Amino acid sequence: MNLLKSFCACSCFGKKESPSSSTSHDRLSEPTSDFKGQPRLPRFAVPKRYDIQLKPDLAACKFGGNVAIDVDIVADTRFIVLNAAQLSIDSGSVSFSHPNSNKVFGTPKVGMVEADEILVLEFAETLPTGMGVLTVGFEGVLNDKMKGFYRSTYDHNGEKKNMAVTQFEPAYARQCFPCWDEPAFKAKFKITLLDVPSELVALSNMPVEEELSTGNLKTVYYEESPVMSSYLVAVVIGLFDYIEDHTSDGIKVRVYSQVGKANQGKFALNVALQTLGFYKDYFHMPYSLPKLDMVAIPDFAAGAMENYGLVTYRETALLLDDLHSAAANKQRVSTVAVALCVATVVAHELAHQWFGNLVTMEWWTDLWLNEGFATWMSYLAKDKLFPEWEIWTQFFDHETSEGLRLDGLEESHPIEVEVNHASEIDEIFDTISYRKGASIIQMLKGYVGGPCFQNSLATYIKRHELSNAKTDDLWAVLKEVCNEPVDKIMDSWTKQKGYPVLSVRVKNQTLEIKQSQFLYGDSDGHGQWIIPITYCCGDYDSSKSFLMEKKSETHDIKDFFSDNNDPARSWIKLNVEQVGFFRVKYDDGMAAKLRYAIENKCLSVTDRLGILDDSFAFCMARQMSLTSLLTFMAAYKEELEHTVLSNLIKITDKVIRIVADARPELMNYIKQFFTSLFLHSAANLGWDPKQGESHLDAMSRGDIFTALAMLGHEETINEAISRFNAFLDDRNTPLLHPDVRKAAYVAVMQKVTSSNKAGFESLLRIYKETDLSQEKIRVLGSLASCPDEGMIQEALNFALSSEVRKQDAVFALAVSKEGREVAWKWLRFASSEKGKEIGKFFANRRNASIERTLKQSIEQVLINARWVQSIEKDKDLANAVNKLAPNKS
Ligand SMILES: [Zn+2]
Repeated sequence: MNLLKSFCACSCFGKKESPSSSTSHDRLSEPTSDFKGQPRLPRFAVPKRYDIQLKPDLAACKFGGNVAIDVDIVADTRFIVLNAAQLSIDSGSVSFSHPNSNKVFGTPKVGMVEADEILVLEFAETLPTGMGVLTVGFEGVLNDKMKGFYRSTYDHNGEKKNMAVTQFEPAYARQCFPCWDEPAFKAKFKITLLDVPSELVALSNMPVEEELSTGNLKTVYYEESPVMSSYLVAVVIGLFDYIEDHTSDGIKVRVYSQVGKANQGKFALNVALQTLGFYKDYFHMPYSLPKLDMVAIPDFAAGAMENYGLVTYRETALLLDDLHSAAANKQRVSTVAVALCVATVVAHELAHQWFGNLVTMEWWTDLWLNEGFATWMSYLAKDKLFPEWEIWTQFFDHETSEGLRLDGLEESHPIEVEVNHASEIDEIFDTISYRKGASIIQMLKGYVGGPCFQNSLATYIKRHELSNAKTDDLWAVLKEVCNEPVDKIMDSWTKQKGYPVLSVRVKNQTLEIKQSQFLYGDSDGHGQWIIPITYCCGDYDSSKSFLMEKKSETHDIKDFFSDNNDPARSWIKLNVEQVGFFRVKYDDGMAAKLRYAIENKCLSVTDRLGILDDSFAFCMARQMSLTSLLTFMAAYKEELEHTVLSNLIKITDKVIRIVADARPELMNYIKQFFTSLFLHSAANLGWDPKQGESHLDAMSRGDIFTALAMLGHEETINEAISRFNAFLDDRNTPLLHPDVRKAAYVAVMQKVTSSNKAGFESLLRIYKETDLSQEKIRVLGSLASCPDEGMIQEALNFALSSEVRKQDAVFALAVSKEGREVAWKWLRFASSEKGKEIGKFFANRRNASIERTLKQSIEQVLINARWVQSIEKDKDLANAVNKLAPNKS
């Protein structure tokens, strides 16, 4: 599954408010106590094949169904225990038959344990071992919670219609049909859809075997699937257009979209075709199903879901207008950044077809084997498909840096995390599983080398195909193929939370390195790691590597000093290209030389970025003063590289928010200083696209002008508003390219006040007139950047109105520093006024719940509070800021 990044920033919690499960029969009993409160289902009955018939009623928003499950009874028992939730079970329909003896084990006692989402069937006599068939009839509601079997809505010819969609990961298949809803219970699935309106498209994991029409309704029979986990089963029923193509080995790939939007699927279709070919070569294993469908769903909680053979996406993660067609210059809304997002999500979901679907984690403890790998693989595929995007330079900024940020909290968790109850699973779809997971894979690949790593993965996939695996199974293969103590090294990264900071100094021509745990807070961590370390002295040809196993080590670097008088080559950089998942703190002498190397562009993009990221972390952890951080940031004044600029923008935003609390009197100077950091690149990029420029420059242009507008840079705001006005007069004007449209919207909102709302109203008009999700999100993301409190309130109210799909409201929460107070009041106000609605909204979020997220938020608040105190006491700050700001008026 692909998380929607913006959700990560939003800590949400809410209680489930779902109709409770029930049985329609009164033969409820108490046979269930033995099975209550267990994290996993008992193992004495194992499903082998499901024959599922579903009859959805889109108009009445409900469904009925019947399932016949081939079950292998592996130990004598009178019980069958499986999962079911929010279903109404027809007790009279439940039976177990034994084909060999032709015996039917009549109607059992049927018990539901709602808290554990299990259905307990107690038979009057012991069921013999061997294969039998369990039959259950059930009914349920097509809910609006974006999970289980749910409804999404769309407009067709001015009429509002429902579609039926499934989202079963991690544990919602049980809301659609009774099943053994754990990843290790793999089985074959034979699905039939009954009474589907003939004009609708009805899709499932496998191709259609037969379709029979009666009047306006049809029955659709699908081919039987290979063995797979229940969370990967999928059904989609609605009105769609599609485009299709075939891979070189004949697999049919389709992209389904709303009627009239089929062409917007071209880019994703092309990415999918190429990616399938790339993964086939990389894993030495072809895609394993006869077809692949990718469908854009109007209401979708996550970014996308990798259902086997039927991948579902939120519209913005799949559709975009063609970046290269001449006709697309008119009315174009998509940007390079959007294309990059679509490529990322498609490559991620398709990696799952191997890592996750073909080989599945044994239990959710090993979720990172799915998500860490899919995240990492997507970079490999993007690098192959779009080398011009220099995608690995973005890996650090998007993945490692975010992983380091969360894992520096005491309330983080190990990659391999114990999961004791289904309700705990949602919580681990987080930055640790995805981003730290991907980062330690990158570190391991760096250590064992690319070819050896690839061979290991191919061996692992072959060895565990159509089955399940644990983290240890992967280490075993790597150890065998690469002949390295991979298990020993990696255990220190996956079984304990946190990561090290290396303190480095040079003494007597020796490099002294100490490791300790990095934490933002005050407590001491006791972690110790086996660290693959690389370092360069003065140039990138001299790279050395070693494995640090102890708390401290020394390395002789006499050679480096013997013939070195060139200041441009006097630097030493550890963690070359930021491949390792740790931070590095240099002594003052080493830091000064690195600063010189940054100013003179002697370091690579990723290394410049890594040093900046570490410095900011040390500042937030109060191991470096804000004065020192700002002085150091001045070294990036001539920076032009996209990823470094993007990180620099993030840091300036966070510093401004903290300074607003700690030293508001210095705000103007600090804004002037930050503005000066971006003016060089702004002048270099200009507002209009340049012939032959890199994709990364196109992305920087939007980011830089948005940042300058947020900093209140008058020249940028005025230019943006004049281009925006041209755009209002003529939507096809070349003056407002999609890449800079967000910057213009933000600039417009900087001048909006409660007494002058014209700009705000124009933006709402743009929101309402477009049917493109990307444009809607761009507007939503700009509205609350307004410094006027009254307007922020209006923007937030709009976000929760019926004009905005529930899944998108969160984008409007990206509020300005002035807006934080208002947003908080609004949430509290809303909790009484619109509490129910908001409760439902948060209950459905992927990162919803729960204890750990809440504790992390509280820890972050405390870290910020201590940071504010330290900045308040920073005596040199006023002087330093005064010197750094270019205009002291
Ligand atoms: Zn995923």
